[in-house]
Amino acid sequence: MTLTVAGGGEPRAAGEERPRIALLPPEVAARIAAGEVIERPASVVKELIENAIDAGARHIEIAVEDGGIERIRVRDDGCGIPPEQLADAFERHATSKLRSERELFAVRTLGFRGEALAAIVAAADVTVTTRPRGQTAAAVARYRDGRPDRSGSAAAAPGTTVEVRELFAALPARRRFLRAPRAEARAVTRVVADYALGYPAVALRLMLDARAALSAPGGGTLREAVAAVHGEAVATALLTIAHERSQPAHGADGADGGGDATAGEAAVRVSGAVGPPALHRGSRSYIHLFANGRAIVDRALTHAVERAFAGLLPGGRHPVAIVSITVPPEQIDVNVHPTKAEVRLRHERLVYAAVQAAIVEAIAAAPVAASPLTASTTAGRAGAHAATATWPPPRSGGGPPSGREVIAGARGAAALAPLTSPAAAAAGDGAEERGVQAALAMHERLPALRPLGQIESTYIVAEAPDGLYLIDQHAAHERVLYERLQAAREAGEAASQPLLASAVVALSPAHAALAEELADELASLGWDLDATDGAAVLLRAVPAALAAGDPERALVEYLDRVEAEERLSGPDRTLASLACRAAVMAGDRVEAEQQRELLRALERAATPHTCPHGRPTMLHLSRAALERSFGRR
Ligand code: ADP
Ligand code: MG
Repeated sequence: MTLTVAGGGEPRAAGEERPRIALLPPEVAARIAAGEVIERPASVVKELIENAIDAGARHIEIAVEDGGIERIRVRDDGCGIPPEQLADAFERHATSKLRSERELFAVRTLGFRGEALAAIVAAADVTVTTRPRGQTAAAVARYRDGRPDRSGSAAAAPGTTVEVRELFAALPARRRFLRAPRAEARAVTRVVADYALGYPAVALRLMLDARAALSAPGGGTLREAVAAVHGEAVATALLTIAHERSQPAHGADGADGGGDATAGEAAVRVSGAVGPPALHRGSRSYIHLFANGRAIVDRALTHAVERAFAGLLPGGRHPVAIVSITVPPEQIDVNVHPTKAEVRLRHERLVYAAVQAAIVEAIAAAPVAASPLTASTTAGRAGAHAATATWPPPRSGGGPPSGREVIAGARGAAALAPLTSPAAAAAGDGAEERGVQAALAMHERLPALRPLGQIESTYIVAEAPDGLYLIDQHAAHERVLYERLQAAREAGEAASQPLLASAVVALSPAHAALAEELADELASLGWDLDATDGAAVLLRAVPAALAAGDPERALVEYLDRVEAEERLSGPDRTLASLACRAAVMAGDRVEAEQQRELLRALERAATPHTCPHGRPTMLHLSRAALERSFGRR
């Protein structure tokens, strides 16, 4: 497969004569979308990467400490800032990229407002070191408390380094809104990942504290960039998308404002790659959208991507997609959002239709393949799987079975199995195990619940002597599993299911780092993992609660959960993620017998009313409330 640079994502021409930095004329400045440019460390990183790309950089290094709250450093090998213009770069609305109002409607650079550096020095201590090519020394400028503090010169390689320390230190109200360093680091990683995918020809390296979190080689192929961001397995499975559409200016696209004679011919080019349907994910974080080289957030476009997969993915699952659209610069307004995260497209419907068509074509043209995870790690066997693969994949089985599956079975049934498995029972159901604590919590315990049925494949309706209960099947199962797994771990008896043959599982760098960081905790839950190199692990056993599916998929999805877990930390985080991954999902059918088992287990839980995250597991409508509502008393 050959994937080329995503549309619009060409690095800027290096060494090109750069216009002088100048203040925008007041009438242009007044048209700049106002708002907070710098909200969190990730916004700083985004602005600095954009400046580096606009400067024609081929290599960009990002180093972040404490999620960027303490320190952010972005170093590039771009064109640099001439020393006599350095002070101007920090003025509000000073830019080398835009001159007139007319240019505002045909922006070709990532930056254009001249606001970012000014906003960053207003929010943090900043040091810029910059050396234009052809100069022998670098100019240094330091800003403290929003004012120039020191300037001078230094020895440095050509290019620009911006160092930002103590974000919002002088603005405690803003600093309070920052999340935990881990969450901020995740947002930074997302920004770097977006630019790595949008600019495969630019080498991007991200260090989080002392850890190399992402390293895109800049070789120019999207496949390489995807491997750096999401791992080899995802990269290998991708299907290239490519589609072009045009439509005359006075065509049927009038509802989008296409009738404007100055707009010229509506046109769009779609490029990028999508995963085959079997490569689905539990969140939308694997969907990356770009418009003219700009990473964007666009609900309607996201929806268009998901629509292209309609009927091919299990409920609640999301595709992997890197979708880049390129339209003529005058057909996109990039000046509608303070952080430039959203854009307005003149011919929205044309673009959405083109995106859908691009994806549908790619999926239709793809050979029926084996589970992508299996295919990438057992190349020799991929062909054999292909012959037996079902298409589309089973609703919730997640792709054709891999050769290493331990127990076959639909996910719903499998997920409920641990309720009655001997290991789980031994771990959590003994008469004494909760002793005094259980007695104290007695008033919180549930009455005997009798299930009446399931609604929306999500809730179980139950009756009890004290009224009606509506139980969230996922939250309830999560609670039950959580307590059992916790008891088993405390007893040092985490149930583990060895694989018939150990598997090499390709992981994204982020997942590999997570697996290494949490090695002890994972082992205490029944995972048997050995690091091989930075990109894969050797998987020998999975927690028994996950024994019923594809073990490789289970590991990747489990690490996804752990990564996304924001409310819990420490051992609770890994434990709750396991309970969540193993629990029956909303949308899964739960048969009558399983409903009874789930409710019985919930009745015995120590804290039955909430899931491990504190969300309610049930709603209760008391008899008294029912009687009052119907005017019976
Ligand atoms: P904008 O990017 O919208 O022009 P900024 O405040 O981000 O505004 O930057 C102001 C100016 O400083 C830019 O127009 C550019 O000329 C210069 N500049 C900023 N960062 C860099 C960099 N890394 N390399 C070269 N020039 C830069
Ligand atoms: Mg900028």
